[in-house]
Amino acid sequence: MAMHHRLAAGDESYGTVFVVTSSSDILPHQNARARRLISETLAESGIEVHTNSVVEAVEAQSLRLVSGGKLEFDHLVLATGVAPPTWLKHSGLALDERGFIVVNSSLQSVSHAKVFAVGDVASMQSHQLPKAGVYAVRQGPVLAENLRRALAGEPLRAYRPQRSALALIGTGERSAVAARGAFALKGNCVWRWKEWIDRRFVARYR
Ligand SMILES: Cc1cc2nc3c(=O)[nH]c(=O)nc-3n(C[C@H](O)[C@H](O)[C@H](O)COP(=O)(O)OP(=O)(O)OC[C@H]3O[C@@H](n4cnc5c(N)ncnc54)[C@H](O)[C@@H]3O)c2cc1C
Repeated sequence: MAMHHRLAAGDESYGTVFVVTSSSDILPHQNARARRLISETLAESGIEVHTNSVVEAVEAQSLRLVSGGKLEFDHLVLATGVAPPTWLKHSGLALDERGFIVVNSSLQSVSHAKVFAVGDVASMQSHQLPKAGVYAVRQGPVLAENLRRALAGEPLRAYRPQRSALALIGTGERSAVAARGAFALKGNCVWRWKEWIDRRFVARYR
């Protein structure tokens, strides 16, 4: 949506943006209201969404779909989500069905007690967490504490994830959608809120 917004601002006839996804709806991890708000924005912007479209191959200027269809493009942006490092397959560590390291509530590998994993590469046995930074950053202090405790031979601390996390999704026209639990809201005030949070976060590392 941001790309469409920027391109359309420079040239009305730049072409079409389309989104291809294998799932039956966009943003399957967000609530129904957030999905509706984003779908409406996509439709208003003229962005085509191709759901249930599994890509079989990327060719020079086209996508070949499992259904037999073909979608032609000038420029392609791949954003297919997080994948585990391939070397994990041969590590002997217990992995989930997608290949991420299975950890217990102490963030410790369930197969190798001396190995800890957090963030995107970890898969908690007790919770299905989205691969998002908001969870990774809160696991950090528990990991640090548990490494210290493991070395000292002390009982480990449990990490308890928050029940839901706030998502702020920019829609490209100085507007954004806020979603948490079953709640969703769209507007310029959400965009300004997102800008404030993002800029404040980045400024901490300058
Ligand atoms: C475009 C984009 C936007 C995102 N926006 C959000 C957002 O708004 N909110 C949110 O909560 N989350 C967001 N995420 C997800 C978030 O970035 C991740 O969940 C988070 O960074 C995971 O942290 P991590 O430390 O587990 O992994 P990473 O941040 O990926 O860090 C892993 C590190 O390990 C290093 N590494 C990998 N392999 C090796 C190796 N073999 N040897 C040495 N080093 C290695 C990598 O270089 C990297 O520095 C976004 C992700 C992307 C890609």
